[in-house]
Amino acid sequence: MKNESKIKLNNMLVTNMLKIAFNTSHTLLFDHVVFPVIEKGIKSALNRVPGPVTWPGVMEDKYYMFRSMAYSSMKIGASSKFASTVISKAMLSDLRMKKEIEFRGKFGFDPPGFMVISPAKRCNLRCRGCYANSASEKDQLDYGTFTRIIEEMRELWGARFVTVSGGEPLMYKWHGKGVLDIYREHPDSLFLMYTNGTLISDRVAGELYDLGNITPAISVEGMQEVTEQRRGKGVFEKITRAMQILKKHRVLYGISVTATRHNAEEIVSDKFIDYYFNELGAAYAWVFHYMPIGRDVDPDLIPTPDQRVMLWEKSWEIVKKRKIMFVDFWNHGPVTDGCISAGRPGGYFYIDWQAKVYPCVFFPYAAANMDEIYARGGNLNDLVDLPLYSHIRDWQFKYWKEGDLLRPCPIRDHYRMAKKFVLDTKATPSDEVTAAIIKDAEYERKMDDYDRELAKRTTPIWKDIYLNGNRRR
Ligand code: SF4
Repeated sequence: MKNESKIKLNNMLVTNMLKIAFNTSHTLLFDHVVFPVIEKGIKSALNRVPGPVTWPGVMEDKYYMFRSMAYSSMKIGASSKFASTVISKAMLSDLRMKKEIEFRGKFGFDPPGFMVISPAKRCNLRCRGCYANSASEKDQLDYGTFTRIIEEMRELWGARFVTVSGGEPLMYKWHGKGVLDIYREHPDSLFLMYTNGTLISDRVAGELYDLGNITPAISVEGMQEVTEQRRGKGVFEKITRAMQILKKHRVLYGISVTATRHNAEEIVSDKFIDYYFNELGAAYAWVFHYMPIGRDVDPDLIPTPDQRVMLWEKSWEIVKKRKIMFVDFWNHGPVTDGCISAGRPGGYFYIDWQAKVYPCVFFPYAAANMDEIYARGGNLNDLVDLPLYSHIRDWQFKYWKEGDLLRPCPIRDHYRMAKKFVLDTKATPSDEVTAAIIKDAEYERKMDDYDRELAKRTTPIWKDIYLNGNRRR
């Protein structure tokens, strides 16, 4: 049988198996018969396509994360339309295979796998320290640019996964059209929408269910007290109501959390996990450690190096023992083979409301603007070889071979090097704050101290558990 036919047959079998799994997710059959088959499927998929970094501990992390991903989403259950979008369109796509070959022929490596787009800077909340506080209606992405980017991702890269961030995406309005129109007009793309949740009504949840290609991730900071300290009084109730509405409409949703020095312990506590996952029915969590960019920059809010190691340990307990998809964006570097920025294979670029293109959401220095690229007749592929992005990618490729993936982030964990990339390539700061911090010696000293202290703690873990494959403590 030809290779292409084999892949098609394999995709058909996996599709049917996953459909059965989604339909049996609340039964004993699921736990004792269907899920063990899925676990075997994950192991064999990882053996076939292990990714560029294959150290024993890295492969173990990948297995447990994929297992939690499958378990969490199937256990919660979702509309069959959503399940089918995930399975047939985003996960098992023949289109991707074809486009990978074309892209590889041109650039020598596989294309990016997704994109993060923030179409509007503004927001209906006034959270402490958030840049969206100063936004106006003008800070919005042209609808034509927005939709064209999604079309080109598909056409040039075979990529159909789009993360929509903000500001508040549901505040986006361009000549009467909003994000729901984007989701409707791209039925074969899958969208993850970061939202504060306060604009999710029964009507909106019903639409999300009907569209079947969006999963919202609602921002929380911890339990009620911590969440309202940052987001404002009364917000917690609105957020939890939105979660109940989404659950009622069978829209698969998750939470997103910013870890700081103040809430690090709370967000991995049993109370937190039981409340959001067992009581309210969230299917996943994305944890982002506080990044000192944007307004009210404060490097002292970053979880300390000791807290970072504590979060690494606790998050794996949640993933392995409770089978909850609890993704800690930096600590789980081994799962993604490290940094996913700068359009690396399977990675992404970040585009903001002014169409500026950054290596990633947390790397606030841009090398291009999509509106300008389109005005001169270009397309998304014009981004690939720009010096800032290729500097970062060359580093990523080298890091695959010799780096500690528990410190995967150029801008956070290797600040001096990232700063050099920014200065050497004359990248444009996202705003006056990021323009100032790149010249700030005290900021650099704090980031550098953090990087050094972190390395002291993660290097022994990396060697022992990941390279040598010894068991976790
Ligand atoms: S630059 Fe840092 S935050 Fe951005 S994708 Fe890479 S590791 Fe993650």
